[in-house]
Amino acid sequence: GSIIGMLGGGQLGRMTALAAARLGYKTHVFTPEPNGPCAQACAAETVADWDDEEALAAFADSVDVITLEFENVPAPALELLAALKPTRPGARVLAITQDRVAEKSFANELGIGTAPWRIADDANSLADAVRELGPSIAKTRRFGYDGKGQAVIADPDHAETAFAAIGRAPAIVEGRVDFVQEISVVLARGLDGSIASYPAVENHHTGGILSSTIAPARVSPAVAAEADRIARLLAQTLNYVGVLAVELFVTLDGGVLMNEMAPRPHNSGHWTIDACAVSQFEQQVRAVCGLPLGPTDRFADAEMENLIGDQVDRWPVLIADPGARLHLYGKLETRPGRKMGHVTRLLARTPQQG
Ligand code: ATP
Ligand code: MG
Ligand code: MG
Repeated sequence: GSIIGMLGGGQLGRMTALAAARLGYKTHVFTPEPNGPCAQACAAETVADWDDEEALAAFADSVDVITLEFENVPAPALELLAALKPTRPGARVLAITQDRVAEKSFANELGIGTAPWRIADDANSLADAVRELGPSIAKTRRFGYDGKGQAVIADPDHAETAFAAIGRAPAIVEGRVDFVQEISVVLARGLDGSIASYPAVENHHTGGILSSTIAPARVSPAVAAEADRIARLLAQTLNYVGVLAVELFVTLDGGVLMNEMAPRPHNSGHWTIDACAVSQFEQQVRAVCGLPLGPTDRFADAEMENLIGDQVDRWPVLIADPGARLHLYGKLETRPGRKMGHVTRLLARTPQQG
């Protein structure tokens, strides 16, 4: 097909649409919020709610294949769309990745380790879980991102407060992992089942939000290989088509645990735009359009920094810095904690690493 339907209107859709344009594809976006980062880079925009069946059907009619940049598309909307046009990734993948319990169960069944976890739908079960697991993090099962909908809890007596803080049931409680590093693997899986993965990268967070990524991660070859194995196993088992990101914890003993998956291009893969032969966004286009995947070879190591909140003062400095590749998302309004853009710096390539 030659028109890609994009569900969700944020910067991930924008960067996918830009990659699509380079390969001659047009992108149509479906989003409840008008004139966002994605719409600015798209040939057409449908502004409607996820429960507007007429708008969804008309959108599906206007495109050849459907993908997404927002993993919380409601299941009924996705089912309606998937009945009309190829939708990649599909409903089963979304059902698993939208729910932290389904996601961790799925990983554990494949022998992939995670933080120990319990379901907690009220303050009592939360207190019980904290007694069992020790220092923990309570999270909403659904809709959390950038650390929202989470509360740290070490004392079972604070269960009421923690539950009120995360604001919504159903919830999951995870034992706190004493990780030495957070890493992620971004891969693409094509319609033919082939997989192209980027090297594991190292992620640093501030206040629950990704602040920077170092590519590749400064980990042993064994840790990098285990992270890659886990990500490939998840993608294969899901019969995944598209770009999949897997966030992982590296523990003191060199173990690798899955934190969560994102069924779309990922913030920790933005460095691939400037440092790799084919970026994660072009891989997404290639995969969902049934084209061969491209090489993931990198020309340089890289460091990506997110521009979060009001940093407008830095833009002229960054654009004038010959070592910095500046990306701005065209968001009309700055808010604290909002991702406004990112900057990638290319570093000398470390030849010994994957
Ligand atoms: P994202 O924006 O990546 O989707 P999210 O809101 O879905 O984030 P998580 O990735 O689950 O949230 O958690 C955010 C961060 O909180 C993690 O990157 C990690 O730093 C920390 N964290 C989450 N769960 C645990 C855990 N069980 N033990 C230790 N730290 C954790
Ligand atoms: Mg998440
Ligand atoms: Mg996360």
